[in-house]
Amino acid sequence: MLENPRTWLALLALLGVRVGLALLAARFWPLLACKACRGSGKHFAPRLLGGFRRCRRCKGSGSRIRPGRRLLNMFVSSSD
Ligand SMILES: [Zn+2]
Repeated sequence: MLENPRTWLALLALLGVRVGLALLAARFWPLLACKACRGSGKHFAPRLLGGFRRCRRCKGSGSRIRPGRRLLNMFVSSSD
């Protein structure tokens, strides 16, 4: 199946659509909920340590910058 060039073209087109969508998403929704704390900015800590602690990944903000956003920033800053 993969020897067929049309299959490769279809895969490439799919990839292009995916990258395009990711860049679009990064353009309009640059922030995602932090995966580590699910957007709450807090973590459950063991009781001995006192309940909640601030999420280290997002530094308590609960959101993180989409990976594609950095790529987009690179493009934008390089074209200026
Ligand atoms: Zn977090």
